[in-house]
Amino acid sequence: MDTKHKGFNTKLIHAGAIDDEYGSANVPIYQTSTFKFKSAQHGADCFAGKSDGYIYTRIGNPTIKALEQNIAELENGFDGIATSSGMGAITSMYMALLGAGSHIVSSAAVYGPARGVLEQDFSRFNVEASFVNTSNIENIKKAIKPNTKVLYIETPANPTMEITDIKACSEIAKENNLTLVVDNTFCSPHLQKPLDMGADVVIHSVTKFINGHADIVGGIIVTKEEELYKKIRHSMAYMGCNMDPTQAFMVLRGVKTLGIRIDRAQQNAMKVATVLKSHLKVEWIKYPGLENHPQYELAKSQMTGFGAMMSFGLKGGFDAGKKLMDNVHLALLAVSLGGVETLIQHPASMTHAGVSKKGKLAAGITDDLIRLSVGIEDVEDIIEDLEEGLKKI
Ligand SMILES: *Cc1c(COP(=O)(O)O)cnc(C)c1O
Repeated sequence: MDTKHKGFNTKLIHAGAIDDEYGSANVPIYQTSTFKFKSAQHGADCFAGKSDGYIYTRIGNPTIKALEQNIAELENGFDGIATSSGMGAITSMYMALLGAGSHIVSSAAVYGPARGVLEQDFSRFNVEASFVNTSNIENIKKAIKPNTKVLYIETPANPTMEITDIKACSEIAKENNLTLVVDNTFCSPHLQKPLDMGADVVIHSVTKFINGHADIVGGIIVTKEEELYKKIRHSMAYMGCNMDPTQAFMVLRGVKTLGIRIDRAQQNAMKVATVLKSHLKVEWIKYPGLENHPQYELAKSQMTGFGAMMSFGLKGGFDAGKKLMDNVHLALLAVSLGGVETLIQHPASMTHAGVSKKGKLAAGITDDLIRLSVGIEDVEDIIEDLEEGLKKI
């Protein structure tokens, strides 16, 4: 079925579907490394790109293609490139768009390893990177140099929940001939469509909201135009960052419920945020859906919902954070986000325990900060769990 002009929830379920000879309701798992050519000429045509037949799963596979077309349609892009992980998507993008002597401007609060790989690995190949707070557009303008090729942003930022203006970034990118890449993991295309706002490339860790069940790791890149698609696909396939067919099947299954999962999770998040905002043990809260968020208006204008992610600070600082971690029972004490289950994390004592004070502050991580990914459980139970935990502080 042609789903191009259908609604978002219809696309989630039907976009990218393939018709096989058995009438399978779901896309089968083509668990094969290689594909037989029909003849020498067919093989030659596949390699020359004159036939859309498959050659080898690292390069392409029907199950993976179904997922790529599904997400590309959700993001209003040309096509998708599925990868082994979100980091596989990010490094494939870097490899395709950067080279010796080039420079990238990135959000300071970008996903940690996405920054680390630039500082520790791409730097060895003479790629320069600047990390700035992109929620203030002036910082981006100041960081651009003659050799800047890419502007890479993540919005809302993790865990500061600061919002970067995608349309304003797109204007700067056009003026300076940069490729604008947006990590849309926190929102998913259900809440934010960066390509419609002028971005050239969208990246997801599908591990998070898109798959939504905390049972696989994966990534995807969607481009607006064919030229960038070909360039990044080449890097992905040559570096071997491909997704696996079974992984793609799992994500195709997970994505079908993305709309109802996020709608429910963000409804829950709004109620949780409202309770935390006036809680005696809570010093501050950052959730884009609360009017006290400094960029509430911008969030409202570029997102169609406020999502399920928030961070808040505890009055008792570091010790209170640890105490809360040990006294919640429903929320899972775990990194990652965007699943059906509520996850809670205290970066200062967990993910960032080994990071210097200066490094933590640069990443927006204070000792009192708690990050919460609200799930789709009954909201009364989530709130009760947090209230019980807070009581122990
Ligand atoms: C998790 C995450 C990534 C990395 O994805 P993996 O699937 O873990 O490799 C990138 N960006 C954001 C915003 C993430 O949350």
